[in-house]
Amino acid sequence: MPTTMIAFVEQQQRLVSDGDAEPGDDGQEYVGELDVAAAGDIALAAQDFGRMVFIPPATLLRPSTTDDVVRAVCVARCSSRLTVAARGNGHSVGGQAMARGGVVLDMRRLGPPMELVRCGGVAADVPAGALWEEVLEWGVRNHGMAPTSWTDYLGLTVGGTLSNGGISGQAFRHGPQVANVAELEVVTGDGERRVCSPSLCSDLFFAALGGLGQFGVITRARIPLVPAPKMVRWIRVVYKGFEEYAGDAEWLVTRADSEAFDYVEGFAFVNDLSDPVNGWGSVPILPGSVFEPAKIPAESEPILYCLELALHHNHRGAAGVDERAKEMMWPLRYMRGLVFAADVSYVDFLSRVGRAEEEARANGTWATPHPWLNILVSSSDIADFDRTVFKRVLRRGVGGPMLVYPLLRSKWDPRMSVAVPESEVFYLVALLRFIAPRAGDAALEEAVAQNREIIGCCRSKGYDFKVYIPHYENEADWVRHFGRDWARFVERKRRYDPVAILAPGQTIFARAR
Ligand code: FAD
Repeated sequence: MPTTMIAFVEQQQRLVSDGDAEPGDDGQEYVGELDVAAAGDIALAAQDFGRMVFIPPATLLRPSTTDDVVRAVCVARCSSRLTVAARGNGHSVGGQAMARGGVVLDMRRLGPPMELVRCGGVAADVPAGALWEEVLEWGVRNHGMAPTSWTDYLGLTVGGTLSNGGISGQAFRHGPQVANVAELEVVTGDGERRVCSPSLCSDLFFAALGGLGQFGVITRARIPLVPAPKMVRWIRVVYKGFEEYAGDAEWLVTRADSEAFDYVEGFAFVNDLSDPVNGWGSVPILPGSVFEPAKIPAESEPILYCLELALHHNHRGAAGVDERAKEMMWPLRYMRGLVFAADVSYVDFLSRVGRAEEEARANGTWATPHPWLNILVSSSDIADFDRTVFKRVLRRGVGGPMLVYPLLRSKWDPRMSVAVPESEVFYLVALLRFIAPRAGDAALEEAVAQNREIIGCCRSKGYDFKVYIPHYENEADWVRHFGRDWARFVERKRRYDPVAILAPGQTIFARAR
């Protein structure tokens, strides 16, 4: 048992709780080969992308091998009160990757290299701390191959998104990222390293997928690959009404694969030129292309909708894609003058949010609070949601994108931990709020209150909905969130992390003494 390590971490923990010294400064000689971060970096692990909570850990360790993760988990398990949080890229918004007075593992050190494996098909063995953008770059550049399911933004770790879901416009067709994994290596809360798959230790495999980090630290994932297309036709079209928008989007995501787009997403935006963040300016694809307000009928509503589609060139070439896109778009009911399209490389298409990140960093909104709310809402309730939430509560927008697009439940394996609505078609509604620099506390409080109002509205109206990437503070909310799967979630926790060491920042279970 690594007692010197426990002594070290507990000493750090005392420093944090006494508030009389910075952690990380002393005692590093006790920790053997585990890499302990310096005090400044430990402070970084007390924050996340949300910039709304500050929860200092006792220490930040940088495991570079699975054995390091095993040792860190064993340290916590052998202590009387330590907890362990894996931190991917810290892109949670509510402290989910934090551990008050505990051990945070910086999973980024457990990053590339990746390895190509042949196991029936072709797959990549990817360390859990790799970013999806690194997986894309490695796969396309070295092998001309890529995974099928992505997130919009690729600066997220493989372990982080597999602990939640991983959703983008490919999910209607290929399922979310959690449905595109062949095998995982996991260090469970009892300090065991286990390899699991749909046929080997399958309960742990499905528990870890969407498991909010509760059952183990994912150290490696095997992700199936397919040949990557070189080019993509990227299209945006605008709708003046939700009924036509949602009808067309649902029709598109329920078509047979041979007749389907490769990507279907969409967003709601304010019918207002003066809002550069989520008004008309958010629709054109290429710099220099212009949104012509004259093409919007005068009687249009305060909220408009943009359907975003993509078609891979594959073997078709540009002319073949023209013909195919024309045929597929012909029945859609968008406003005919408002079509934006471009042919871009596959890598550029998948990296599109990276460019928005650069802008947000430049204008300061990447570093301000992000009270984001992601909800999955059943198609049977989405029209009412549109009337109540988009057109009333959010009629002035959220200072960032408001995504709304349909997904299919049948693409989510019910054995996975992630909770989704009951109906076959449900929508991802993502309210990606960026608080303006110098907007002050009042703006943040108003946004948080609005989020609360929206969830309250979904509950009081009895919608079939789930919060995606949830963050609740009390057990009653978690019980409600998981519904009839709560008992399974608790049983899995007892089986794989019996002392409740892991992922304390999710505030689902308290560490047993
Ligand atoms: P972290 O925030 O570091 O961790 C998240 C949770 O997972 C924590 O509980 C942590 O303990 C746990 N965890 C992390 N790594 C591991 C591991 N290896 N093993 C076990 N548990 C682990 N989501 C989408 O689905 N689609 C999107 O398009 C999308 N876009 C986003 C864009 C931005 C700009 C941001 C900030 C977030 C976006 N998200 C999106 C949400 C994102 O998927 C989640 O916040 C995800 O958890 C972030 O990954 P991360 O690597 O930063 O994880």
